[in-house]
Amino acid sequence: MFEKILIANRGEIALRIQRACRELGIKTVAVYSEADRDAKYVKLADESVCIGPPQSAHSYLHVPAIISAAEVTDAEAIHPGYGFLSENADFAERVENSGFVFIGPRPETIRLMGDKVCAKDAMKQSGVPCVPGSDGALPEDEAEILRMGRETGYPVIIKASGGGGGRGMRVVHTEAALLAAVAMTKSEAQTAFGNPMVYMEKYLENPRHIEIQVLADEHGNAIYLGERDCSMQRRHQKILEEAPAPLLDTKLRDKIGEACAAACRRIGYRGAGTFEFLYESDQFFFIEMNTRVQVEHPVTELITGVDIVQEQIRIANGEKLRYKQKDIRFTGHAIECRINAEDPYTFVPSPGRITVYHVPGGPGIRVDSHAYQNYVVPQYYDSMIGKLIAYGTTREQAIARLKTALSEMVVEGIKTNIPLHGDLLRDAAFLQGGSSIHYLEQKLAAQKKAS
Ligand code: ADP
Repeated sequence: MFEKILIANRGEIALRIQRACRELGIKTVAVYSEADRDAKYVKLADESVCIGPPQSAHSYLHVPAIISAAEVTDAEAIHPGYGFLSENADFAERVENSGFVFIGPRPETIRLMGDKVCAKDAMKQSGVPCVPGSDGALPEDEAEILRMGRETGYPVIIKASGGGGGRGMRVVHTEAALLAAVAMTKSEAQTAFGNPMVYMEKYLENPRHIEIQVLADEHGNAIYLGERDCSMQRRHQKILEEAPAPLLDTKLRDKIGEACAAACRRIGYRGAGTFEFLYESDQFFFIEMNTRVQVEHPVTELITGVDIVQEQIRIANGEKLRYKQKDIRFTGHAIECRINAEDPYTFVPSPGRITVYHVPGGPGIRVDSHAYQNYVVPQYYDSMIGKLIAYGTTREQAIARLKTALSEMVVEGIKTNIPLHGDLLRDAAFLQGGSSIHYLEQKLAAQKKAS
């Protein structure tokens, strides 16, 4: 096993990876920007290296600083966490060319999946169902684009092949608006992603977001760890996730899960990964693959008993998967609330000092957070300060435990979205389960109108 791993990330995921390393007897190196100098996980790490000023571009995204931190500390492997450089194929390549192990897929795989047209194509060939639309990038020929629009049926969505983070997409409702929308999305895609390629999909009007977690080793073994429902979103940002997905037919889940595992074997996938789907009218439609650990991985850990971060490390170490598909059992229900430093209703970020901090506990409660009393939430990064996760034998029990935990949680000095989660856990549609990705925004809009 590795003796020392460098964690190229910050916040709760840096702490989460550190805990996994510690359990495996691996020493850790934290890298930090000047804004994170006093962070708990920096102090807890075996070694730490300052890699630059607060701005991410000069620290957490600064590849030479991270590579030299690994060199001076003699780390053997680098865990990228999520966000930052985690899906940057050039970074993965630099890591490997510098003689370190990248804890994630091969650079070629990250590159393939980062190009959505190529990713969809690879999935289709592996038998994973995709959203109907243009097969591949849109051509130059305008008559042909119009024909594709008619064949797909309106509304359609034009998406940038190099897009990500909810950017580079445009919904088109009528043929009259199509060509202008294509031209605009293309030019934006060129500016934002350096790649003007766009493609067309049928716009699904009321889908749920359901994703499949996979693990694959470099010896050709791949399994799926079930699904997560991440439909509670605002501006394409997930805020609450659960596993299993309510009201989903488990036979269908297993069929899609098998298709994802088969796709992993076919493309030679390595590590943990997530296949994201839109789910509508009892059908799954692949939209993209994330080639890294995800924020919401704990809900899967709780219902399967598999430590996804430890498995990532074992796989990177060249080991064979320790689980076969038949070893994976889905037991109980888990729900995660992302706790963000922001106004619960206007969503304006609320950085600053946490003056009072109490975390809940009790049966089935897990808190993944780097925050503490007197911690200063920096203004420079994502506003998530932690995750509150509840496990129960049933969904009802998980909700009841989460409600209690939320009511016990105290964070003062900054604003958080804890009240919003409290509202959601009492919401009739949420309690029923199966809401679409638009539900939360519709609920918020209705509340705003009423007040
Ligand atoms: P990104 O990489 O930018 O997150 P995705 O392809 O994952 O892009 O899409 C992000 C979100 O956009 C989805 O979660 C969904 O809300 C919406 N979306 C994307 N494609 C479609 C589609 N064909 N129909 C309806 N909504 C879509």
